[in-house]
Amino acid sequence: MTNKNISVDTKLIHAGEPNPRIKGAVSMPIFQSSNFEYGGETSYDSIRYIRLNNTPNHIALHQKLAEVAGADAALVTSSGMSAITTALLAYLKSGDHIMAHHTLYGGTADYIVHDLPKYGIDFDFFDAMNPANWESKLKPNTKVIYVETITNPLMDVPKLDAVVQFAKKHNLVSLIDNTFASPLLYSPIKHGFDISLHSATKYLNGHSDIVAGVVIGSQEHITQVNSKLIHLGGSLDPNACFLLHRGIKTLSLRMERQCENAMKIARFLEDHPKILRVNYPGLESNRSHENAKKYLCGFGAMVSFELDGDVASADAFINRLEYAINAASLGGVETLITRPVQTSHSLMSTSERKKAGISDTLIRYSVGIESADDLIGDLKQALE
Ligand code: PLP
Repeated sequence: MTNKNISVDTKLIHAGEPNPRIKGAVSMPIFQSSNFEYGGETSYDSIRYIRLNNTPNHIALHQKLAEVAGADAALVTSSGMSAITTALLAYLKSGDHIMAHHTLYGGTADYIVHDLPKYGIDFDFFDAMNPANWESKLKPNTKVIYVETITNPLMDVPKLDAVVQFAKKHNLVSLIDNTFASPLLYSPIKHGFDISLHSATKYLNGHSDIVAGVVIGSQEHITQVNSKLIHLGGSLDPNACFLLHRGIKTLSLRMERQCENAMKIARFLEDHPKILRVNYPGLESNRSHENAKKYLCGFGAMVSFELDGDVASADAFINRLEYAINAASLGGVETLITRPVQTSHSLMSTSERKKAGISDTLIRYSVGIESADDLIGDLKQALE
């Protein structure tokens, strides 16, 4: 786009769109072609082929995502986990060490604990909320530092500026999973992170109908990650590119409603006598509230909480809800609920979960765009 100073709301709609429009099409057409006629390309990664992430659908989406995130470049992948694992493998090799925040999405935590050591890559978890002991976790072979903007499932917000400073001081590549914040609540690249990762399955797409991932960064970093991705093969299909391209256009409207709803729901839960604890960084009582106010442009739409009761009463409560759908994922227009121990964090052992502070009774609630009053009414009847 010619004017880079326009609002992100406008970029969501117009950035990356083909100019001129393809045959006048207002909506980006799907190029469902695995390969394209040879056009004199001179390098392997400029040959047009879906696995090389360079079809017209990929190019338009990469441009839109980069501009929305205020970065040079972006890359879409076949899932959030594909974005995460490919980026990690782009920067880590046998003999290296990674520092990662101690509470992460279960799939990421499991990959760090159980897969990376098989490639000779060592790890240490650290508390990204408290810089006091970070130096003690650093090793001469530490190459990467990894955090989530709002952690899954406890909704903690690390000291993000301190993570960036620490990475720069010690020459580490800083990676952040920005899924829960989306590029609208936090811009990792503008704040000095090297790589921002997303499960685009969640807010970016927003409609619970595809699995996709995104890697965002400087052109140099994206070229490095892309060269790993074309070997590992986690490319996004053009049809899924089309759905992500369509979904992302309404990100701003969805996030605005979802964050607003989440605040009301978190306050309702905090005041309810049957709720023991609510994790939502928008609450003044939350341990991440100050960090969230300092770093984020909103508090997000993920809430987790514990009822006064056992696992059976948590499940009975979930089953009594009429609108929240009991499902593993999050970030869709519909409200979704899960017990992370059963789904997103089930790959972790009981002791790993205990160390991370994830109890068996914890309930995670992904707030949708329904009316907040209806959602609160539903929670109320299920609690009573
Ligand atoms: N990152 C976070 C924070 C997640 O919650 C998830 C999935 O729930 C992922 C990454 C993995 O994404 P995907 O399921 O698209 O592979």
